[in-house]
Amino acid sequence: MAEQLDDMYRDIIMEHYRFPRGHSSIENPDIVNEGHNPVCGDEIEIKVKIEKDVIETVSVECAGCAISTASGSMLAEICEGKTIAEVKKIAEIVKALLKGVEYDDNIDIGDIEALQGVKNFPVRVKCALLSWTTLVDAINAKEIGKQSLRSSTEEK
Ligand code: ZN
Repeated sequence: MAEQLDDMYRDIIMEHYRFPRGHSSIENPDIVNEGHNPVCGDEIEIKVKIEKDVIETVSVECAGCAISTASGSMLAEICEGKTIAEVKKIAEIVKALLKGVEYDDNIDIGDIEALQGVKNFPVRVKCALLSWTTLVDAINAKEIGKQSLRSSTEEK
């Protein structure tokens, strides 16, 4: 599938797949969540260290396809140093971009832009969304004081 993507986007995705970011080990993370995408079999675990509303460190372990791994790597890269509110905003942009709807392009999303080619492959959209769903679910659960549950890309 990756070979059908626009060349430039494909190169960015493959670079993240081969050298994924977010491999720091985190002691006592503030957020831990696992996600899975049954459609493709992707599995992910995200750990986050938060300091006063700012995401300090992100660890992403992904066993999955190129798209899910690259998306998790991009998440780790962009989220470090961002506030929770900024991260939620970026997650919304990722969703919009994968659905092919308009989004706020005043926000710099870096390499994430390369994921927009994925919208042409509906089955792969869930692969690209997995890391974001897993992180945002965990942030939302933490905000209401709940232990986060295992996330899934399956519609509830
Ligand atoms: Zn996948």
